[in-house]
Amino acid sequence: MRKPIIAANWKMHMTLSESASYLDSFLVEVADENRVEIVLIPPFTALSKLGDLLSDIQNIKLGAQNMHPKTSGAFTGEISPFMLRELYVRYVVLGHSERRTLFGESDETVNQKAHAAMEATLRPIVCIGETLEQRDAGAVEEVLETQLRGSLAGFDSDALENLVIAYEPVWAIGTGRTATPDQAQEAHAFIRKTLAVLGSEASAERIRIQYGGSVKPDNAESLMSQPDIDGALVGGASLDPHAFSDIIKATSKLTQ
Ligand code: PEP
Repeated sequence: MRKPIIAANWKMHMTLSESASYLDSFLVEVADENRVEIVLIPPFTALSKLGDLLSDIQNIKLGAQNMHPKTSGAFTGEISPFMLRELYVRYVVLGHSERRTLFGESDETVNQKAHAAMEATLRPIVCIGETLEQRDAGAVEEVLETQLRGSLAGFDSDALENLVIAYEPVWAIGTGRTATPDQAQEAHAFIRKTLAVLGSEASAERIRIQYGGSVKPDNAESLMSQPDIDGALVGGASLDPHAFSDIIKATSKLTQ
């Protein structure tokens, strides 16, 4: 049984003070939630403060939105995996479509970062997904397989189990257009099949695959009830603590 993982990607939203007041409302909503693993992924500037505020709270983990693959060095403006680990960060998002499109990240970059993250005992959330043109051209499986093979090169099946995969069709991110539960399930089943080839059948059964792309309280249940969907990476709706906790509650209900 895979424990669902629901993560809030705040992107470049939320100042330090906004993050702290978000937490006040959010903690009340999810205080008793232990069936779902919750991850908050704020901007770098709020990590330290949230790490302190969450230090006694077991059911909420902290994630970062990006990192540099090197431990230290002359890389102005970058943050290293060990700097994140020191702030009690447990997860790091790698290869988000905004990083791939706006900042030129390739599968190779994602792969380097994923290895560096693992060395620092951070768990990568590796994002993959096709564009609308690729879907219309019938190339979804080819794109996903290429991204998986490139991003996960050099990991054995034990290492793969420490990763989370986020399937985020690019056309569904921040657009209000969600993949149907069937479309998402089909992609997730293909991803799991590919993970079995890259690692093993047993490890593929244990790896969690999140769906991301306009997840909201009103579509969470139908998506999260699919057999190969093990949680969500949530952008827009995660900025509202009530909407985000409703997504968590909808997912938690399905595990009972
Ligand atoms: C995301 O940024 O990963 C995302 C899925 O955003 P949204 O939920 O707003 O589509």
